[in-house]
Amino acid sequence: MGVSAFAKPNVVILATGGTIAGEAKSELATTGYKAGSLGVDVLINAVPDLVNIANISGEQIANIDSSNMTDEIWLKLANRINTLLKDSKVDGIVITHGTDTMEETAYFLNLVVKSNKPVVLVGAMRPATAISADGPKNLYNAVALASSKEAKDKGVMIAMNDKVYSAREVTKTHTLNVETFKAPNSGEIAYIVDGKVFFNSNSIKLHTKKSPFDIKGLKALPKVDIVYTYSNDGSKVAVEAFLNSGSKGIVVAGSGAGSIHENQKNYLIELLKDKKIVVAKSSRVGSGLVPLSAEEVEQGFVSANNLNPQKARVLLMLALTKTTDPKEINKIFEQY
Ligand code: ASP
Repeated sequence: MGVSAFAKPNVVILATGGTIAGEAKSELATTGYKAGSLGVDVLINAVPDLVNIANISGEQIANIDSSNMTDEIWLKLANRINTLLKDSKVDGIVITHGTDTMEETAYFLNLVVKSNKPVVLVGAMRPATAISADGPKNLYNAVALASSKEAKDKGVMIAMNDKVYSAREVTKTHTLNVETFKAPNSGEIAYIVDGKVFFNSNSIKLHTKKSPFDIKGLKALPKVDIVYTYSNDGSKVAVEAFLNSGSKGIVVAGSGAGSIHENQKNYLIELLKDKKIVVAKSSRVGSGLVPLSAEEVEQGFVSANNLNPQKARVLLMLALTKTTDPKEINKIFEQY
């Protein structure tokens, strides 16, 4: 079935859980509820107007609180999306997802989905049972975005609270408020008014069809962990434990422009000398770039560019499927 100029687009909703599928005991409760409780059909049926903008079908991939997201679910989700988008009958994908780790899943998909058709993640900050639940409007907007012709070639996006963000740039910034997603280094790429999408910019980083990362046939991803820097933190305990548990890469959530306590840094330098691990310097600050000194380049550190630690982890895992050479990985961090 080809899509004629007048036919409604075919959008598949893949549900993974989250607050958008959450149920609380009272409609006043916006905390203490169970995320990932309602099924995909319930979410779709809660927004009868969806059928006016797209032909909708739904699939349940998982039903979890996204703080429990796993690489296994990521691989299942990404493989399913790649299969669906190869089908000429499918025009776009919407993924319902918890907001806690939505940015990580979105960025992972941005790097491994091999299609220029729209892929949109959406969630909610208030459970489906709450007064003024934000899920239904967010879902309507996400389907409108996934149905829109202009959304092609934009990479994976997040649609939340009437705004659209590129997966590369977006992060969650508030624990509870509906206005939680921001792109601190670049801003939103579009806004949605009454189902109409207005684009104004996009991330210039490479994604989807231009990304070399291929997860086909992969059963697991290289293990990468994050260590946090803070005052009086001179210990190598965390890094050592990660190393002993099989980590191939470490992202440091450094202070300021990626600074690492000297005791911890000296230990990392030792590991780099023996090529035991790849270390990407990121920052706990939340925006801005982490530069490397000429000495750090020599020592074998990688700059996470302006990716926050949780997203630097995603890119480092994928980079490690290609190479362990820090110079090559630095180039990857500049491009994606
Ligand atoms: N803990 C929830 C989740 O990430 C929060 C949410 O969806 O807003 O699944």
